Amino acid sequence: MTALSLVPVTALKGVGESLAGKLARLGLGTLQDLLFHLPLRYQDRTRISPMGSLYPAQDAVIEGQILSCELIQGRRRSLLIRLKDGSGTLSLRFYHFHPAQLASFKPGARLRCYGEVRTGASGLELYHPEYRLISAGEPQAAEQSLTPIYPATEGLTQQRLRQLNEQALQRLTEQSLPDLLPEPVRKRYRLMPLVEALRYLHRPPPDADLEQLAAGTHPARQRLAFEELLAHQLSLHRLRQQLRAQQATALPPSPELIERFIRNLGFSLTCAQQRVAAEIAHDLAQPLPMLRLVQGDVGAGKTVVAALAALQALAAGFQVALMAPTEILAEQHQQNFARWLKPLGLEVAWLAGKLKGKARQKALAQIAGGVPMVIGTHALFQDEVQFARLALVIIDEQHRFGVQQRLALREKGAISGFCPHQLIMTATPIPRTLAMSAYADLDTSILDELPPGRTPVNTLVLADSRRAEVIERVRAACLSGRQIYWVCTLIEQSEELSCEAAETRFSELVATLPELAIGLLHGRMKSAEKAAIMDAFKQGKLQLLVATTVIEVGVDVANASLMIIENPERLGLAQLHQLRGRIGRGSAASHCVLLYQPPLSAQGRERLAIMRETTDGFVIAEKDLELRGPGEVLGTRQTGQLQFTVADLMRDAPLLPAVREAAETLLKNHSPHESPVLERWIKRGQRYGEV
Ligand code: ADP
Ligand code: MG
Repeated sequence: MTALSLVPVTALKGVGESLAGKLARLGLGTLQDLLFHLPLRYQDRTRISPMGSLYPAQDAVIEGQILSCELIQGRRRSLLIRLKDGSGTLSLRFYHFHPAQLASFKPGARLRCYGEVRTGASGLELYHPEYRLISAGEPQAAEQSLTPIYPATEGLTQQRLRQLNEQALQRLTEQSLPDLLPEPVRKRYRLMPLVEALRYLHRPPPDADLEQLAAGTHPARQRLAFEELLAHQLSLHRLRQQLRAQQATALPPSPELIERFIRNLGFSLTCAQQRVAAEIAHDLAQPLPMLRLVQGDVGAGKTVVAALAALQALAAGFQVALMAPTEILAEQHQQNFARWLKPLGLEVAWLAGKLKGKARQKALAQIAGGVPMVIGTHALFQDEVQFARLALVIIDEQHRFGVQQRLALREKGAISGFCPHQLIMTATPIPRTLAMSAYADLDTSILDELPPGRTPVNTLVLADSRRAEVIERVRAACLSGRQIYWVCTLIEQSEELSCEAAETRFSELVATLPELAIGLLHGRMKSAEKAAIMDAFKQGKLQLLVATTVIEVGVDVANASLMIIENPERLGLAQLHQLRGRIGRGSAASHCVLLYQPPLSAQGRERLAIMRETTDGFVIAEKDLELRGPGEVLGTRQTGQLQFTVADLMRDAPLLPAVREAAETLLKNHSPHESPVLERWIKRGQRYGEV
């Protein structure tokens, strides 16, 4: 018997090119796809209800004889059919109908209908029910199993999907769709056999637990989710193994250089910084490529940790590349590193996309010539950038870069046969459930301590109607020597529009607050302009900085202690947390005002309340995940890898420990089952490591 994964949907009765096209839109190309296309929910059509027992809002199957069929010419023309059974009467009402339909409703004929009962003009009615004429000889029985409702698409009816699924089910056997979970794994985690699970999900018996099915927690569904999550884990493990098979330069620790660096810092490291730095130092000393993610809340001091890692490579005479997601942040790193490394006799080069002409040629030549420290934006990925002896790549604020980009940069250093070590730093705490799936290829360090002397930011949520008050507060704060951010947001996708919004707000504030030195910063400005404005703000020459979310990441001005965020309801929690992290860096008590546009949706209100209640990045990240789902939290670039067919990371999170364990068992035994599982669940091009 042919494997169902190889049988195209066109092999089914009644599937031509046009229908196949519609199925393709749902990602359904083979019979296996059809079987893994699970119902969204179910209807209970297994019992025929007597008409006399119906009540409004009930979903019911009824069967009866047509008494009459008439056209009603009311405000809206409708077709009204009276039915009766032994227990009472009921009407069907259609607002859309064909003449042929009208002709088929002959008095005396029997109909079986399914729909929601409502109270209408003629008493209880079913609006536009699904119905079928019942011929005289037909048995009385209703459906034998619960009726599945599938995710559908335009031009593809439920009835059609059910028919196709029925055909696929008829060909479903243990041979045509083999169970890829080895017996011991199935036993250990008490998983249903695949074929049984699929039959159950497509045709649940009348006594099935509908609630459990709808919630996706039924064992049949969990069985499939388990397998899909397992495939995902295996794919990450395989990537990891491929990486571990590569060689890297072992970089011995260099205590002297590090001691000199720390002495110049002006503060001592926090315990968390010391611990994480030691973890990194250990990795770097191995001849295997390090792949480490450092998670640390905003302001935890990740830059110093990055510098410590860099020094270990630099001391051994190798190059280090540090990449940041925005030019402003890269610029800031460049300043910090120059300040830290120059006294140690180490040069720092700079490369960004906007660097053109001679300056660019010079930077490329420096990099190819082996300048020790290279800092830049993703321009560092470009083909013409050639490193002389790159041994460590540091990526700041990882959530902005996808897995694929991470892999691309790794390949850059791999030219000489050696793979560079990689250090990834993120301020967006990644909820544990996600970290286990999206980042299973990384080791993780957590910077769970803020440098001393910080005061938590106090957050206020105010309606836009109180803008005048807020502006007065801004005036008073500036006059008492504080510095302030005023952040303008618009729809995230439109950088263009939010620049305009910032420009407008800037002119307004300049007019209202003539006594203040106000600056404007947005993404459309030239790099030199941006740098000049940032500098002026840092040096205290500007009191108020009106900006777009370009300041979201990494900007560090300790004296800024008030931030106004306009339209915070449009931003995700993680982003708000990032923005707010720009203040509260000095010893002065800091305040953040979330100036929203009423009315707020219920979710909007909940989100702003979370911001008011906590400054803990991990709590915020968990809430964000709950409210928005993993795709949103990780950013669009990564959703590709996190789109599951059956599994749901939030709902199925409790399965993850078992899934990981199973993956490890499978790999340990070199199970031949490994690749078929990947083949089945993970679409080509979405696999990690196949760039
Ligand atoms: P983030 O983790 O958000 O990248 P930064 O590296 O920008 O944080 O650090 C935030 C600020 O804290 C910087 O001004 C930095 O110099 C300072 N800082 C870092 N570590 C310490 C420390 N151990 N003690 C005092 N200040 C520190
Ligand atoms: Mg940072």
